[in-house]
Amino acid sequence: MKKIGVLTSGGDAPGMNAAIRSVVRKCLYHNVEVYGIYYGYQGLIDGNIKKMELGSVGDIIQRGGTMLYTARCPEFKTDEGQQKGIEQLEKYGIEGLVVIGGDGSFMGAKKLTEKGFPCIGVPGTIDNDIAATDYTIGFDTALNTVIEAIDKIRDTATSHERTYVIEVMGRDAGDIALWAGLADGAETILIPEVDEDFNHIVDRLKRGHDRGKRHSIIIVAEGVGSGVDFGKRIQEATNFETRVTVLGHTQRGGSPTAYDRVLASRLGAKSVDLLLNGEAGRMVGIQNNQVVDHDIIEALNNKHAPDLTMYQLSKELSI
Ligand code: ADP
Repeated sequence: MKKIGVLTSGGDAPGMNAAIRSVVRKCLYHNVEVYGIYYGYQGLIDGNIKKMELGSVGDIIQRGGTMLYTARCPEFKTDEGQQKGIEQLEKYGIEGLVVIGGDGSFMGAKKLTEKGFPCIGVPGTIDNDIAATDYTIGFDTALNTVIEAIDKIRDTATSHERTYVIEVMGRDAGDIALWAGLADGAETILIPEVDEDFNHIVDRLKRGHDRGKRHSIIIVAEGVGSGVDFGKRIQEATNFETRVTVLGHTQRGGSPTAYDRVLASRLGAKSVDLLLNGEAGRMVGIQNNQVVDHDIIEALNNKHAPDLTMYQLSKELSI
């Protein structure tokens, strides 16, 4: 393989730049030409493709977002869209593609591979919702952003004796809420994977209040429902002054943590190794701190499961 392409797709995540840098530098290290495809699959269809040099990825390892930009591209879900993409790749003589993104992006990579174009998926999403990897690129950074915000909210919650509901990202997966809740000693964590009884939540809040707790923190993953609505219900049920903060897109940005940079560097490099070894339709990941690779279909068919022992522990520690 003499020419490899790389793109980022779907939601951006901090550390995507470090992954792009790793792919580009690893290719050049092996004397393989490397092409950046801008705006994800949309740019692939449009032929928004540029050759990358060593300097193309200079000074990006510490930056959030993605220098290749990203886009949602409904057309790529069609056979015609995928065919157009392959034609563009062939026009440039590109023989393999690294796709950095979430499970939607992996579906695209799977489709291209099935059509005979070798792709490798690199998991880049803050949600940590991909099976076959312990962590996705961007999760650690997002988590630290959430923690920083909750620490600040905690100060004001104590000062005013309030209940705080904090809505964090996680449409289908509760890892951000779960980890942030445990890391910040939240009284209650609501994640899509667990059905929590509303009356129990209210009882816990009241018990804590009776014991003299000056504040309570409730973390709600967006997949469970609106934090604002939940805050209203809590205020009505407890009569405690309740405030809601929706952290929203602050969780996506920012400079990647050391962990995400290292993870991105390791996974990006592995994706190039796989292509150069003639592999296709694989995704790279990290399990027990070892870089691994799995069939992308297997990864898509399985659901990432949150560690529910952490959920239980959080309950035990925040009685
Ligand atoms: P993420 O990769 O973060 O999960 P999306 O779900 O929005 O984000 O997917 C990103 C892009 O991947 C979509 O805009 C589309 O171009 C492509 N994609 C998603 N699902 C499919 C599919 N079933 N087949 C082909 N391409 C897909």
